[in-house]
Amino acid sequence: MVAEIIAGSVYGSMALLADGWHMGTHVAAFFITIYAYRYAKKYENNPAFTFGTGKVTVLGGFSSAVALAVVALVMVVESLERIMNPETIHFNQAIAVAGIGLLVNIISAFMLRDERGHSHHHDHDHHHHDHNLRAAYMHVLADAMTSLLAIFALLAGKYIGWNWLDPVMGIVGAAVITRWSYGLLKETGPILLDASIEEEYQQAIKAAIEKDSDNRISDIHVWKVGANHYAAIISLVTHFPNTIEHYKSLLSDFNRLSHVTIEVQECKDKPCVIPEQSARENQ
Ligand SMILES: [Zn+2]
Repeated sequence: MVAEIIAGSVYGSMALLADGWHMGTHVAAFFITIYAYRYAKKYENNPAFTFGTGKVTVLGGFSSAVALAVVALVMVVESLERIMNPETIHFNQAIAVAGIGLLVNIISAFMLRDERGHSHHHDHDHHHHDHNLRAAYMHVLADAMTSLLAIFALLAGKYIGWNWLDPVMGIVGAAVITRWSYGLLKETGPILLDASIEEEYQQAIKAAIEKDSDNRISDIHVWKVGANHYAAIISLVTHFPNTIEHYKSLLSDFNRLSHVTIEVQECKDKPCVIPEQSARENQ
């Protein structure tokens, strides 16, 4: 990263600079993640965070995405400026450093692939771990592709005089970062806004409550308090109130629910006993 940024500035190659800045965004995202993780651990049991600190790392991801978008914008502006006012590019030196960058990307991809091959556990967390590793692997592969494109652009400039291809690669690099940023925003934004529960999951919770006795759900809120932990507030109406433990036991299969609050309202309307079938039809 440092070599690419220095060489990109000295030898006038935007393609190289873009590659270096791209790696810089990885470093920034990495430190934001570490900071968020430490912070979440430190305040894990602090009552000020009423649902725990599960969302701290999600906020970290969102912040990374915003930072990435800003870097991408700066890259586009810088590239456009160079298309308008071309700089002298020292092709041989730039190509040599770009080659080192490509090599680093390829080595990283191989290391991530090996890491994937070495894992053989089957617990739930591990599924997540695998998913993240796969995402990282795919990302590094895409990065290697852009490094390769940077080398092609520099070769085209050197041998056929297409110097404009070099700053165009800066825009391609910005597009790759923007895509990454957008994906992160889409993944983290809904969790921060309590809007990320799959409709089927909520429907299944509703069905589990309503198939018991003559229960009807009058109000339900399900939301994420961490990447994989949900909270729920459920109000139900019934002619035959039962214990809270009974209703919670109806939800025992939903292992992602870690905070459940249930409110039971006894329906005293006449007729007091509604056969289950007709109660359903009246809904
Ligand atoms: Zn990348």
